[in-house]
Amino acid sequence: MIQVRVIVIGNNVAGTTVAKAIRDSDKAANIDIYSEEATPYYPRPKLIDYLEGKVQEKDLPFYPLDWYQTQRLGIHLDHRAERIDRTEKRIQVQGKWQRYDKLILATGSSAFVPPFLGLPKENVFTLRTIQDAVKIRELAPRSKRVIVIGGGLLGLETGRGLCSAFPELHITIIESGEHLLMRQLDHEGADILQGWIEKTGARVLVKAETERILGEGAKAEGVSLKDGRRVDGDMIVVSAGTRPNTMLAKEAGLKVNRGIIVDPTLRTSDPDIFALGDVAEFNGQVWAMIPPALDEARIAAKKILDLPCPDYAGTVPSNTLKVAGFDLTSMGTVRSQHEPSEPGIQEIRAMTADRGIYKKFVIKDGKMVGAILLGTKKEGVKVTKLIKEGTTIEAIKDRLHDPSFAFN
Ligand SMILES: Cc1cc2nc3c(=O)[nH]c(=O)nc-3n(C[C@H](O)[C@H](O)[C@H](O)COP(=O)(O)OP(=O)(O)OC[C@H]3O[C@@H](n4cnc5c(N)ncnc54)[C@H](O)[C@@H]3O)c2cc1C
Repeated sequence: MIQVRVIVIGNNVAGTTVAKAIRDSDKAANIDIYSEEATPYYPRPKLIDYLEGKVQEKDLPFYPLDWYQTQRLGIHLDHRAERIDRTEKRIQVQGKWQRYDKLILATGSSAFVPPFLGLPKENVFTLRTIQDAVKIRELAPRSKRVIVIGGGLLGLETGRGLCSAFPELHITIIESGEHLLMRQLDHEGADILQGWIEKTGARVLVKAETERILGEGAKAEGVSLKDGRRVDGDMIVVSAGTRPNTMLAKEAGLKVNRGIIVDPTLRTSDPDIFALGDVAEFNGQVWAMIPPALDEARIAAKKILDLPCPDYAGTVPSNTLKVAGFDLTSMGTVRSQHEPSEPGIQEIRAMTADRGIYKKFVIKDGKMVGAILLGTKKEGVKVTKLIKEGTTIEAIKDRLHDPSFAFN
């Protein structure tokens, strides 16, 4: 029996899920995982729980190290893959060559830091890895004013996590866009959310573009904005999005746009090399979220083993703000009122008099394609199902204006 030799580069959710899915379907496959990080797979959302003090560093890994042995997965931590030689079908790690039949690039993404003037400074951080979280948690109790640059999901969760662990901290969130959560919310929803956040004592500045990190020496003392305003702070967390780790693929001559371009079988421009998770670009989309990484990994495993499986057709994005007391779920296509409306798109809004609940449904051709649920989390699963399954909603459409309407 021929044993397929699979190498996975990257050991977070995409890499671990694909390796496990291959093992589940093929007991004989030879599977090796190379990871630049020194810790076995840990879910990155847990880093917020760690910041909050809800979990310890030792509890972050999803599987203990001996799980890899039980699964017969060769795990090589702290081993960065340096080069891909597509002609010989091998990769170079720590100067040695390792051969593959199928190669999986699950190299993910890295935190992006815009080119602010005044960098680097020792108290300016990003939050992507355990090491980042440890550094932030060490400095937080010695800080008074934290600036979070970026009002996206991660920025808000980071701010809230720090605030609940260290209630004496003053938090300022600086967002360059028109409103918070530009990718997940419309203007009305963001306005309500901002009100809730401000009630907790945090300060929110929108349309506020950071220009310079202030401070004469090694330490930041605040930021100055392009409009001339100054915000003081003794710790800064930059949460300005991520960029896919495409360097290995680029150097190997694979087709790369923003991410590594993959087809519906998750193959790159080389049919023996697959890409998935944050590093992959499918249909012009780089998701940078866990649900697509899971969907892609399960499909790629079957394709690698030549087992029957439907092609990948995309994932309905669904985001939840994991902040105690703020219920927000945003699913599918959520158009902002500032974007030109696509022909055939209808938006239905519902809001309670006290603005405690705000819902918005986006409908196209009689089907729901997106929704925002703010102040309620009961219906998230049902609404996501309607969107995923493309169910016609004509029968209930007229009732969606009523904030008390419940899906059943
Ligand atoms: C704090 C935080 C909270 C988040 N919360 C959510 C959430 O609630 N919901 C959600 O959907 N998403 C969330 N995300 C995003 C989510 O974690 C990512 O979408 C997910 O981790 C992507 O997984 P991945 O395996 O594709 O890549 P990554 O997690 O980026 O992992 C890639 C791995 O590959 C390694 N690697 C890169 N290059 C090499 C190389 N040359 N050799 C060896 N190893 C290499 C990297 O070091 C890294 O360990 C969060 C992210 C953060 C940071």
